[in-house]
Amino acid sequence: SEIDSIHKELNDSFVASALSALGKAPSVKSTSPYPLLSIQYRVHQLRQLAILIQENTDAFCEALDKDFGKPAREILMGELGPAFERTLQSAKDVESWAKTTPAEGVPEWQSTWGARVEKRAKGVVLIISPWNYPIILTFQPLIGAIAAGCCAVIKPSEIIPTFSTLIAELVPKYLDPAAYRVVLGAVPEITRLLELKWDHIFYTGNGRVGRIIASAAAKHLTPITLELGGKSPVIVDPATCGDLALAAKRIIWGKINNAGQICIAPDYVLIPRASIPAFTAAVSKALAEFFPDGALNSKDYGRIVSPLHFNRVKALLSRTTGKIVVGGKTGRGGEHAVDRVVEPTLIVFDDIEVGAKDITMEEELFAPLLPVIPVDSIADALAFVRARDHPLVIYAFTNDDKLKQTILDSTLSGNTVFNDTFQQLSVDQIPFGGVGESGYGRQVLKYTFDEFAYQRSVLDIPQKAEPSLTIRYPPTTEKNLSF
Ligand code: NAD
Repeated sequence: SEIDSIHKELNDSFVASALSALGKAPSVKSTSPYPLLSIQYRVHQLRQLAILIQENTDAFCEALDKDFGKPAREILMGELGPAFERTLQSAKDVESWAKTTPAEGVPEWQSTWGARVEKRAKGVVLIISPWNYPIILTFQPLIGAIAAGCCAVIKPSEIIPTFSTLIAELVPKYLDPAAYRVVLGAVPEITRLLELKWDHIFYTGNGRVGRIIASAAAKHLTPITLELGGKSPVIVDPATCGDLALAAKRIIWGKINNAGQICIAPDYVLIPRASIPAFTAAVSKALAEFFPDGALNSKDYGRIVSPLHFNRVKALLSRTTGKIVVGGKTGRGGEHAVDRVVEPTLIVFDDIEVGAKDITMEEELFAPLLPVIPVDSIADALAFVRARDHPLVIYAFTNDDKLKQTILDSTLSGNTVFNDTFQQLSVDQIPFGGVGESGYGRQVLKYTFDEFAYQRSVLDIPQKAEPSLTIRYPPTTEKNLSF
C-alpha cells in the first residue's frame, strides 16, 4: 500500500544518507542541494519550514476557522508565532546541539580514552498529532526530528480535515519528500502505520490512544514520546495569593483559550469555601471584560471541535450535580462550527465529596467548564491532588514560599506554575511534558531534539594505556587483588 511504500522510501533515504559517507549511496530523489541529513541539509529544511509557516499564515487561519472556528488571534499567538520562532531558533542552534560532547569528570587514568557522546539520528520516525493545537503540535516534533537528522512521517488528526489536507499539500511543496512525508487517515491508516517498524514514535493526544501507541511500539521495542493530558488542578489560597480577583482573571483566561480544549487548561479549582463567592464574582467580571457582547457571540472565543464533542459537553452540563453559577448557555450545535459554542461555565459544589464524585470530575474536561470544589484547608486540597493521577500541570495561587515548597515536595506533575496559567508554554528554556498518566518525554527546542537523537557513547582506548590495564588480566596475584 501507499503507507508501506512511504515507509520503505524513507528508510532507503535514511540508509542512503549513512552510506553516502562511504561513497556507496544509492540514488535518492532529494530536492535539497545539500547531502541528505547533513547539518546544512537540516538547517535548510528548517528554514524551508519557517517559510512554509510564514507564507501560509492566512491559509492556516482559514482552515482552522473552517474546521472548528478557531479565533485567528489564538492561532497567531499560540501556534504560528511560536512555531515560526522555534523553527528559526532550531536552525540557529542545531549545529551546537548535534556536536559530539566530551565526557566530563573522567578520572585521570581514563583521560586518554577519548570518552565522548555523539548525537545520532534515531532513524525514520512517526509523528502523530491531535486536532486541538494542530500547527504547533505537528511542527514542534517535526522541528526536533529535522534537527536530529531523522526522516519523518507526519499523521495529522482526521478530526480537522481542512487543516490536515492543507498540511498534506504544503509539506511536499516546501520540504524534501525524500525525508518528510504526510499520511492522512483515521484508525485503519494509523493501524497500518503502527504495524510498521519505526525508530521513534512521537504521539500527542489522549491517554486511551496513548496506550494503543505504546503497545504497538512495544512489539518493535520502539522508543516513544507520549504527550498526553489529564485533569490539571488549580489550588487557590486566598489568604496568601494577594489579589484574588487577579488570580481569578488569570485562571479563567487559562480556561477560555481554545474554549478549554487544551492539555494544560485548568481543569478544576480547589478553593476554601468562604472565598467562592468572591472568586465567582471576579470570574464574571473578567469574562464581561473579555467578551462585552457575551462569549457566545464573540469572534475571540473558540468553538467546540465536533458535534460529538459538543454533545459530550452538553451532556456534562445537564448531568452535573453542581450548581452552574456563571455561564451555562450553549449554541445550537450541529455541523457548523459557529454554532458549536459553549459559554465559559463555573460549576460550584457545596461539598468536596460531592464534587469528587461528579461526572465533571471523571475525565479531563477539554471544554470551557470549570468545576469549583470547596476545601476546608490547603492541606485538604493537596490530599485531593495527591489522591489522583499525576497531572500535566499543577497551578497554585499563593505568594507564601513555604506553601509553594510544600506543594512542590508533596506532589508530582509535568510542570508546576505559581500565580498564573499557561505561561510554561512561553518559556522555551524549560522542558514541557508529562509524568505518569500525563505521559513521558519532553519538548521544546533542544528537549525535542533530544527525543529524536540517540546519545551514543564512544570510547577509543589507546594501546599506550596498557600499563594502567594490566591489573585486569589473570592469573590472580597479590598485587592485582590489592585496591
Ligand atoms: P485526536 O482525536 O486528534 O487524536 C490524536 C491522534 O491520535 C490523531 O492523529 C488521531 O488520528 C490518532 N488516533 C485516534 N484514534 C486512534 C486509534 N484508535 N489508534 C491510533 N491513533 C489514533 O486528539 P485527542 O486525543 O482528542 O486530543 C486531545 C487529547 O490530547 C487531550 O487528552 C489533551 O490533553 C491531549 N493533548 C496533550 C498535549 C501535550 O502536549 N501534552 C497537547 C495537546 C493535546
